[in-house]
Amino acid sequence: MSAPVKCPICKKPTNPTHKPFCSERCQQVDLGRWLKGNYVVPGRPEDDSEQLPDADDHA
Ligand SMILES: [Zn+2]
Repeated sequence: MSAPVKCPICKKPTNPTHKPFCSERCQQVDLGRWLKGNYVVPGRPEDDSEQLPDADDHA
């Protein structure tokens, strides 16, 4: 007997169509979490384009 696989998101029985999730919704939820974990951009450090170049370097 194989243990029933449950959806890792909502713990409902898995739907073979959306394995290992129970529905497309949970599949998207998991995908979203996965992407967030890989795209950790809490504030773009390259967004300080207002900073002028060093104009004090007139030699
Ligand atoms: Zn689910």
